[in-house]
Amino acid sequence: MIVGVLGGGQLARMLALAGYPLGLEFIFLCPDRDACAVPLGEHLQADFDDESALISLAERADVVTYEFENVPLKSVEFLAGRVPVHPSPQALATAQDRLREKRLFREMGIPTPAFAPVDSLAELQQAVAEIGLPAVLKTRCMGYDGKGQALLRHPDDLLPAWESLHGVPAIVEAFIRFEREVSIIAVRDPAGKTMFYPLSENTHRDGILRLSLSRPGDPMQAQAEAHAQRLLDDLDYVGILALEFFQMNEALLANEFAPRVHNSGHWTIEGDETSQFENHLRAVLGLPLGTPTPVGVAAMVNFISMLPSHTEVLALPQVHLHAYGKSPKPGRKVGHATVRTDDARRLEQLVTPLLVLAEAADAE
Ligand code: AMP
Repeated sequence: MIVGVLGGGQLARMLALAGYPLGLEFIFLCPDRDACAVPLGEHLQADFDDESALISLAERADVVTYEFENVPLKSVEFLAGRVPVHPSPQALATAQDRLREKRLFREMGIPTPAFAPVDSLAELQQAVAEIGLPAVLKTRCMGYDGKGQALLRHPDDLLPAWESLHGVPAIVEAFIRFEREVSIIAVRDPAGKTMFYPLSENTHRDGILRLSLSRPGDPMQAQAEAHAQRLLDDLDYVGILALEFFQMNEALLANEFAPRVHNSGHWTIEGDETSQFENHLRAVLGLPLGTPTPVGVAAMVNFISMLPSHTEVLALPQVHLHAYGKSPKPGRKVGHATVRTDDARRLEQLVTPLLVLAEAADAE
């Protein structure tokens, strides 16, 4: 079976690594000659909206999926007229637009931070008068890893923040003083069977995920599952979906969802019976899902900007290194490492030296 993937980054690469034992083959459509998934499959080097490349992908692949949500919606719709595409264009369209996404959460009864659409400075001023400060101004589309966002602390911040977005449609949200950030990774097959992974507890800095901890048995699991279930069913979703929350007191407020495998689920490769990557492939191909039962507890540390040396990482106990084969660049995700243990009390002790290595490499 041939899986077509829009995108050739580390998520595409890890999908292929999970698919190889199943005998799957991969075709990656992406413009970058040196994309890090390219060595693992066939490469259709073209822009995402190149019609002849899309036709060729549709003719050859049994199913098409995508590894990031900023692929053009039109291309995904075009493909969906020719070949099964999962998750659906409708799921992608919702995830691409923060306003549509937050409105859907609201319709589903999934709590969110207070928000309002903003298309002008006057609307921003009006919205902030209602929502209050601090608040966060975000572009409706094309934002990721904290890009296209501005924190508003003081009324004087509104004008420069609005100007920094160059007039693109935006959304303003209440700034949440959350206790922690968590995400739930869920998988749904074409028949509607759904499974959930244990919650991930996530730490971001500068808008970029740094650390994810698996949290089997977390008291917020049932609430997160109930919210995700409504979303999955409403979208008639197929594949892996990640839903991110801010936790305040005993409530989860939805921030956003990703219609794809997700960085906060990388620990599932070693810390779970079936990884998110394998289950995404199983779901989109209509194969039976694997159980998302945790294997002990796990922590995943992202390597940003630069990879520490293999020797230093691999000298640590119970560590699993994933180097993406990307060249160093400030702010770029170049790899991650996961530690896994059956003894939850040891997790902090195991992850601390990894965090030190990640910090040192990022600072270089
Ligand atoms: P996003 O691109 O929306 O996922 O934002 C990236 C990160 O910025 C989040 O994971 C949070 O750490 C932070 N952030 C985004 N929106 C808010 C908010 N409304 N309140 C507090 N922190 C936020």
